Amino acid sequence: MKIHEFQAKQIIAGFGVAVPKGRVAKSPDDAKAVAAELGGKVVVKAQIHAGGRGKGGGVKLANSPEEAAQVFSRIMGMQLVTHQTGPQGQKVKTVLVEEQMPIERELYLAVLIDGAAGRPVMMASAAGGMEIEEVAAKTPEAIHRVSIDPVTGFQPHLARELCFALGLTGDLMKPATQLMTSLYDAFMAKDASLAEINPLVVTKDGRVLALDAKMNFDDNALFRHKEIEALRDKDEEDPSEVEASEKGISNFIKLTGNIGCLVNGAGLAMATMDAIKFAGGEPANFLDIATANDVNKVVDALLIISRDPNVNAILVNIFGGMARVDIIAQGIIEAQKKMAKTVPVVARLAGTNVEEGERLIRESGLPVIRAEELGEAAKKAVEAAKAAA
Ligand code: ADP
Ligand code: MG
Repeated sequence: MKIHEFQAKQIIAGFGVAVPKGRVAKSPDDAKAVAAELGGKVVVKAQIHAGGRGKGGGVKLANSPEEAAQVFSRIMGMQLVTHQTGPQGQKVKTVLVEEQMPIERELYLAVLIDGAAGRPVMMASAAGGMEIEEVAAKTPEAIHRVSIDPVTGFQPHLARELCFALGLTGDLMKPATQLMTSLYDAFMAKDASLAEINPLVVTKDGRVLALDAKMNFDDNALFRHKEIEALRDKDEEDPSEVEASEKGISNFIKLTGNIGCLVNGAGLAMATMDAIKFAGGEPANFLDIATANDVNKVVDALLIISRDPNVNAILVNIFGGMARVDIIAQGIIEAQKKMAKTVPVVARLAGTNVEEGERLIRESGLPVIRAEELGEAAKKAVEAAKAAA
């Protein structure tokens, strides 16, 4: 799960990370009031769940309360396009106003899980403020990493190592060490999968602060963090993913292709997507319907998929183990009656109660395209999608 910058800043500030003063403004007048409280010079920042807001025009300086009100009006409601939003952009519904910091240097600092090592890793770079993916691609040596043993925690010598790598010496070492330690504490306590500060800044008056903050959380740990779950902003999530999760279909991820997929089992779902790609197509979603022996769930899933305007064919790939093919077949039949537009369905069905499932589909008279094998099913889906497009 993702949250907004202002929320991440509140969390890390609670653990001792220094952040600029500021708050969310509700209106131009409110932005003016916040700016006046903060001494006049502020930064007005669009809050969306995507980075690159600065480049996209979603982060602007204002040098007086009046200017803050004007800039607020320009940013609130804008369709902000960044390299992370896609070309359609994301509508700005929340705006943060915070004090302008006198920046001397912009650095990068993050804690994340190193899957290969099975441990948290802290990453730092003197090349802050830029896209870290670009730094990693062009100058990987500019990123310093320290692996953290979760049993002993973030030791002072690890902080010193990163401070030296970043050139944070002398009086800067103490506040920088404190900030790193606090960030690690927040990351661990909240079961985060990422806590990233880009930029971490050194100010002209010798302070070390988080000017931006991003936190992602492990969804599987949210049950023990109701306070984090409460920060969820569904406006920032894909509507079809929100609908799927509300209908109890948890493993649905919207993608940009034109072939919808209904599959049971995450591994089979991945293999199905590969097969579609191999046949020259693009999957429109990932979906593991799991052992949903519930006709309504199958119908809901197929309707969510078919409502995607990009989708012009659906590939159903089911290997019934505990899942029953006859129930899936009933779902396909029900869904076809309810779909607003006709989407060709290719079905590759095998396993438990397959004969009964086949019979139901045959007797329904619906034009379901049959396939025996996965490769064949993918090919037929790609052809059907092309014909329907
Ligand atoms: P994004 O990463 O989405 O572009 P940031 O919060 O990192 O958004 O802001 C972009 C840039 O704006 C920063 O790299 C920094 O130079 C500047 N900036 C952001 N917040 C402040 C602030 N409080 N004071 C001064 N400059 C800021
Ligand atoms: Mg940033």
